[in-house]
Amino acid sequence: MFGAVVVGIGTAGCVRIRDMLAPLSGSPAEKLTPRGFISRRSLESQQGVSQISVEEAVSTEDIHVAFICTENVSHEDNIRTFLQAGKHVCVEYPMTMNYKAAVELWDLAQEKGVILHEEHIGLLTEDYKQLKKEVEGKILQEGTLHFTGGPLKPGFGFPAFSGIARLTCLVDLFGELSVTAATIEEDSGTNYSKMTAKLLTADNKPLTWIEERGPGLPRAKNINFHFDSCTLTQIPPAPRGAVGLFMQDLIHFSAKLVGQVSPEELQREKTRILHCMEVADKIQQLCKT
Ligand code: NAD
Repeated sequence: MFGAVVVGIGTAGCVRIRDMLAPLSGSPAEKLTPRGFISRRSLESQQGVSQISVEEAVSTEDIHVAFICTENVSHEDNIRTFLQAGKHVCVEYPMTMNYKAAVELWDLAQEKGVILHEEHIGLLTEDYKQLKKEVEGKILQEGTLHFTGGPLKPGFGFPAFSGIARLTCLVDLFGELSVTAATIEEDSGTNYSKMTAKLLTADNKPLTWIEERGPGLPRAKNINFHFDSCTLTQIPPAPRGAVGLFMQDLIHFSAKLVGQVSPEELQREKTRILHCMEVADKIQQLCKT
């Protein structure tokens, strides 16, 4: 069994505890068991799991795994603490708020011989899986992904990182991307922001990624992908899958822990994650100049 600690008791942290307490039967997630949670607040036990300190978590031998579910700006420090202690880490996206730190953390995980996993439930939705099937085999001419949503709470960081789920989908659909231009409009008074990034595929086809947030904006992903054969203007709606998204991610992470994921797949995922971090970093730099 892998004992686990959950860091950060927000929406994601509570779901992690819930899923470990009731894992999908017959899946490697059954190998995980929650042994405590960490919070900056002083809390009652959560779903029967008690609060422990960071010091206790890193020094307890039967805690092998940490789930980092805090706000984005504190992911990096938390990941480092647990990797340094030789614990496997599952972090909710985005792993860090800059590319350099992500590279350092992957190196540290390798040095310690532990798994570092970044959650990407955005790749696991039935809608996304359907979209991926529809895109497969088609040749892109140009495209736009325009995300809208409400304002984020403080601590969620620059939009290229807080929205890295969208960038990850673009990279998963169209391959590695380069950045040609990026701008941001921000109005802190009204809590509005709009980031526009101009990207190019390896075949020099233009893609635009817009991340727009403001009060009252509906959470939506609008696409417009022109292919040689047709145009897709809507993510195909698909019925919800039988297994929840965080549970699917938990199964994938625990499969890595028990050695069921091939080194090639681990490497592919690491390459994709670091590529997205590098693109996000470049977008942020261009927005600042
Ligand atoms: P959240 O705002 O619910 O929690 C974030 C952090 O804030 C946690 O550390 C939590 O302990 C703390 N917190 C929450 N309420 C608090 C309060 N009243 N007082 C003090 N601290 C409080 O955010 P979340 O949705 O759980 O997101 C956590 C991470 O998971 C983020 O990195 C996010 O990007 C990622 N994520 C979330 C979802 C989701 O569906 N919620 C999906 C994918 C990724």
